[in-house]
Amino acid sequence: MTGNEIRKSFVDFFKSKEHKHFESASLIPDDKSLLLTVAGMVPFKPFFLGEKEAPFKRITTYQKCIRTNDLENVGRTPRHHTFFEMLGNFSFGDYFKKEAIEWSWEYITKVLKLEEDRLWVSVYKTDDEAYEIWNKEIGVPAERIVRLGEEDNWWAAGPVGSCGPCSEIYYDTQNMGKNNEEADRKPGDDGDRFLEIWNLVFTEWNRLEDGSLVPLPEKNIDTGAGLERIASVVQNKDNNFDTDLFTNITKGIKSVLEIQGNESEEAVKIIADHVRASVFLIGDGVLPSNEGRGYILRKIIRRAFGAGSAAKQKVFEKEDIFLYKLVPYVLETMNEAYPELAEKQEYIEKVIRLEEERFATTLKNGTEMLEEEIQKLKGANQKELPAELTFKLYDTFGFPFELTKLILENQGFEASEEEFEKKLAEQVQRSKDSRTTISDMIKDEFIDEFFEKHGKTEFTGYLQNFEEKST
Ligand code: ATP
Ligand code: MG
Ligand code: MG
Ligand code: MG
Repeated sequence: MTGNEIRKSFVDFFKSKEHKHFESASLIPDDKSLLLTVAGMVPFKPFFLGEKEAPFKRITTYQKCIRTNDLENVGRTPRHHTFFEMLGNFSFGDYFKKEAIEWSWEYITKVLKLEEDRLWVSVYKTDDEAYEIWNKEIGVPAERIVRLGEEDNWWAAGPVGSCGPCSEIYYDTQNMGKNNEEADRKPGDDGDRFLEIWNLVFTEWNRLEDGSLVPLPEKNIDTGAGLERIASVVQNKDNNFDTDLFTNITKGIKSVLEIQGNESEEAVKIIADHVRASVFLIGDGVLPSNEGRGYILRKIIRRAFGAGSAAKQKVFEKEDIFLYKLVPYVLETMNEAYPELAEKQEYIEKVIRLEEERFATTLKNGTEMLEEEIQKLKGANQKELPAELTFKLYDTFGFPFELTKLILENQGFEASEEEFEKKLAEQVQRSKDSRTTISDMIKDEFIDEFFEKHGKTEFTGYLQNFEEKST
């Protein structure tokens, strides 16, 4: 099955279970507390919170999503994107755990025909009801059901309000490709062997100010399955980027940048991910800027541009801009599900092109500033650029580590990849720590962090120059 076929089969399946299909909502949510649509349930938040009555008791969607908390994961894990599509079915005071579990199983085993022996499930540690349904009614053997804690299997709209346990479906990718060495792993452990494909959320509790839980008058179901991950297992690939949702885009990148074979694999993935995100953000009305959503878009375009530079081992200049040329490849793949993009093609290309040109100037200035740092190293008789600087160049201005390293090495200097990776890992941990509730995930971590760390004014030296020249 192709990605397009999977998307359609999901909606058709839930239509056959009397769900109403809603179009994907905008990436810009109709909700002031939220920067971007991070999950399929976002457009339905008022129904989940009981603020409005749902027009239908059963709804199904494929929803455009963006998660900036996964930005650093892109290209590094086989399963994370910034932009992705979430397939979902929702019940507002209608069916509950039993049907949600049964239908998810029916869809993946009867429609997608996934190998049952590879399927594992998790339930919240005290959710015996879900455990029994999986074990007794569906027949998933006890060895393939794990009980997990809050971090993975408890969902909350915020510190107070509706919440509940969830249950996830995992696909065991052992011996499908690279994942052969994790014999004693279980879902919920680190590593890539168990791929989380679907999360079923059972919203049944209301958390009060004093922390206590009272049952909600209406129980709801909110599920989310990543289309790209489902495609990877259906198409027997060990990486989302190898599915047909990406092959055309990857082909485009390789042809535009003249990349051979599997060279610069990580950069190609980053570009593929970021160009999709850029197309959809601009399509929904976001423009590059220095704050809010615009800053996210700017950061994504710049990272993609930096990845191109790193792949070609050259600081790209104005005449090297390439990202806007990839827009047609994205549209070709996504046209069927999002036909409205076609009429915006020229506009999207133009926005990307202008931002690329602007960033090319920044990169040039950045290189000059890096040269200044190199002079300082020379003066101090040192060889290594401190990790604070390689990381700042990366995090704030989109210089991939490889590019900084390349410039340094060309002049006999060096940078520690290990130290850089340490800084990056700290950042990933920080976004992990702050993602326990949807409201946490919603605030834009890197913007907050950016201003927290550097402040708007105390930014000195070359970094300040960057700011002035790039706006
Ligand atoms: P993971 O643990 O792999 O980061 P998650 O638990 O954060 O996933 P959920 O919030 O439960 O994900 O979202 C529901 C589903 O959406 C996941 O089961 C997965 O299929 C998909 N999904 C989540 N984040 C991403 C992402 N960054 N890229 C692609 N698909 C994603
Ligand atoms: Mg996640
Ligand atoms: Mg998870
Ligand atoms: Mg999950």
